[in-house]
This record gives sequence, structure tokens and C-alpha cells, in this order.
Amino acid sequence: MIVMKFGGTSVEDAKSMQTVIKIVQKEQARQPVVVLSAISGATNALLKAGRTAQEGNLNDAILLLNNLLDRHVTVMENLIDDRSTVQRLIASFKPQFEELRNLCHGIAILGELTNRSLDAIASMGEYFSSQILSEAMCAQGLPAKWVDARKFMITDDQFVSAVPQFDQIDLKTKEIISPLLASKKIVITQGFIGSNSKGITTTLGRGGSDYSASIIGAALDAEEIQIWTDVDGVLTADPRIAPAAQKLRIISFREAAELAYFGAKVLHPSTIFPAVKKDIPVVVLNSKRPENTGTRIVSRPPKTNIPVKSIACKRGITVVNVQSLRMLMAYGFLESIFSVFNKYETPVDLVSTSEVAVSLTIDSTSTLDKIISELSTFAEVSVLENQGIVCIVGDQMRSTAGVADQIFHALSEVNLVMISQGASEINMSIVIDASQIDKAVQSLHKHFFEAVIATDMFEPVGGK
Ligand code: ADP
Ligand code: ASP
Ligand code: MG
Repeated sequence: MIVMKFGGTSVEDAKSMQTVIKIVQKEQARQPVVVLSAISGATNALLKAGRTAQEGNLNDAILLLNNLLDRHVTVMENLIDDRSTVQRLIASFKPQFEELRNLCHGIAILGELTNRSLDAIASMGEYFSSQILSEAMCAQGLPAKWVDARKFMITDDQFVSAVPQFDQIDLKTKEIISPLLASKKIVITQGFIGSNSKGITTTLGRGGSDYSASIIGAALDAEEIQIWTDVDGVLTADPRIAPAAQKLRIISFREAAELAYFGAKVLHPSTIFPAVKKDIPVVVLNSKRPENTGTRIVSRPPKTNIPVKSIACKRGITVVNVQSLRMLMAYGFLESIFSVFNKYETPVDLVSTSEVAVSLTIDSTSTLDKIISELSTFAEVSVLENQGIVCIVGDQMRSTAGVADQIFHALSEVNLVMISQGASEINMSIVIDASQIDKAVQSLHKHFFEAVIATDMFEPVGGK
């Protein structure tokens, strides 16, 4: 069997949904499980409705929900010819939207928006898109079977970024989905959403549908996990920043994992791990150009002499500098620093140390005040906000001399705040002011990919 995940832009309107149906139909013999995102912008609109209600603007929140319902109705009307099916679908959406309005009503009265409520609201986008696709496929005579992901995607209780419970998911996914595949059904389910042990809806975090797809693929020992999106595959950089970005034909799990972790939005950061465990190839494909072969992500791609494969970046980074003379020749100092970050459950991305100072980067600043005040009891602390990370990735970086030199040369006009060579030696990350990110990525891209390269590793976007 294979898993086929379609992102928001792949199901943004009736035409895109029809393309998805064609793509899935072509793969019917390979027993596809289709994992769907919400239609593009739906999750944002739902979350905005929740926040608007919390601010006390219930009418605006309801307007957002009504517009969203209208958008879904337009999609189904343009996608499904059979009037009675459309009417039935609209009738089944109405109580769901009524529930959303009631939820917003409660939020507006309390003025409180919990993560649990956020998940209850955000999860509906995937529910709606998958219902429409499933009905449309059935109306076209395909054996589609809609399955509620909450029945098998069991998570812990961390609403908004719930952690999948793999043992339970394995059992339930096999129990629910395998018999359907055996009876030749095309399974349609939702990415992003799950439920905790009490059956309460959770989500895996923004962009989490990719992760859902690989979890399902691993549970069912898929032969392939396909991630269908709006670009030709994994590119040498985000094309919105470097328009000359080229497609990579094949990359390793390790390279893809680093790129995703350091901001390449094309894959959710956790997508690769379930695939690695079962050694299942992940293929990133473009639903707007299904004839393109995409990027294959595998455990051992053929060796190449290209040291740098791609550049990722992320913004919204905060650097915390911790300085103390006590660190000089002392042991246990790093432990005391990290225990503070641990205590406030704040992950640290990059670390760089000197004799008397440690610099760390963090993504989330929700507990920064507490962290600073605790660190200040034993060290001097300073904070740099609005920073970003640019990460240069390539399996062959560790065995190629002079890559760092080329990186610094390309960045000669950028002020580097921190430099870190990843412990895996397949990446080098630099921290710079967020306002410099585009310039840095463009300059690195020009240096590493826009000169003539004699390799078939890359392919121009728009190629075959
Ligand atoms: P989907 O809705 O299909 O999940 P996303 O918007 O989450 O799609 O991810 C696709 C986007 O990721 C692309 O449109 C592109 O702008 C961005 N992106 C960032 N870095 C990369 C990269 N290295 N390769 C490809 N796309 C990238
Ligand atoms: N719809 C969710 C989001 O927008 C999940 C996804 O698309 O992957 O974050
Ligand atoms: Mg995505």
C-alpha cells in the first residue's frame, strides 16, 4: 500500500480536488490511503475565528465561520454534479458549523481560549475537506471510504502539539485501515488531527499532516509515503526567497530531517522519523504538475561529490547569552544552565560555548522572563531578539574541505551572531539578524547553486 498526503493548496478549490481524484485514481492498484489537509487558509480562518471570539468580537468570529462554510459549499457545488449528494453534504456540515458557532459563543463569554478549544476548532478544517473529497470520489464511482483519524491517531494530552502514541496507533491503524484496503477501498482520512486516550480531539501542531502521513505509512508498512504539495519537490532553497531554486532529485533521510527541522516548510520537522524506522521512501511531489518525478527521500542515496544540497532558514529566533567567570575550569555549569531550560520545557536549538560564556538559541519565548530571572541568579544574561537561523545542509559536507570557507565568503556582508557546525557534520548553521535572512539565503544560493554545475543531482523547477 502507499500513503498519499495532499496539502492545503492541493485541495484549495474544486479544480484542485478534481486533480487530486485523478492522481489517486491512477495509483488505485497500489492501495492508497489518502491523508488530507484542510483547504488552504481554512485552518488559519478557524483559528482566527477562535481568537476573534476570545477578544469579544463574536459577530466577526461568526462571519469568519459563515464565509468558511460558503467556501466549502462552493467547492462541493463545483466538484459534485449530483445535487442530492451536495444537499446531503451541506446538511451534514450545518450541525458541525453550528457546533463551531456555539464553541465561539462560549469562548466569547469566558474570554478564554484554551489549547483544547483551539484543537477542537482547528481540527474541523481537515474534517470538512476529507468529507468533500470522499463524497466526490464516491459520486464518481470510486470505492472511497472516509475514516475518522481520531479513531486511530492516538496522542497524549498536549493539545496544540500532541505527541503520537506509536504503539496504540500501530494497533488501531492496522485494525481499522487494513481490512478496508483488503476489500479494495480507497481510504480517505485526515492529517493533523488525533485524539487523546479519552477521545478528546487533539492536533499534531501546524503543518502536521505530513507527520500524520508518515505515521500512518509506518504503521501500515507502506511501500512509499507521497507528500503532494505546490512545488516540484525539495528544492535547493525556499523558492519564495531564492526564485532560482532547483529541485533535488534524491536526498537522504538525514538531509531531509535537518532541512525540515531548520525551517524548510515543505516537510513538517517530524515527518522523516517514522519513515526512517521502517526505511520507507518519502516522495515529495507537485499536485499542480503530477507528471514531475518529485524528490525521493531515502536512507542511502547514491554518493555525489556535491557537498551542499540545500539551504533552509527560520525566523523568530531568540539568542540567550549566559556569561559567568564561574564557568572557567568548572564542571556542572552547563548542566545548571540546561536544567533551567528543561524546567520551563523550552527546547534549545543551537549551542555555542567559550571559556566563560554559552550562547543558546530558542524558538519559543513564552517562558523567557522566568528563564532569564532564574539564570540571573548565577550568571549574567543578555538576550538578542528577532534573530534567524540559516542552515546549510549536505551529506558530503563533512568530507569536503573548504565548504566553511565558501559559506563565510558568500556571507562576507552579513554580520554573523553565532556559528554552529551540527554534530552530525552534515549541516552548518549560522545565526543572524532576521532582517538579513533573505539576503544571506540569496547570496549562499547564488554561490552554491547558480553557477554552472555539472551534475544531474539538481533539476530546474518546471522540468520533468
Ligand atoms: P502544503 O500545504 O502542501 O503542506 P506547505 O506550504 O506547508 O505546503 O509547504 C510547501 C512550501 O514550502 C512551498 O510552497 C515552499 O514555499 C516552501 N519551502 C520552503 N523551503 C523549501 C524547500 N527547500 N523546498 C521546497 N519548498 C520549500
Ligand atoms: N491544516 C493544518 C495546518 O494548516 C495541517 C497541515 O496542513 O499540515 O497547519
Ligand atoms: Mg505543509
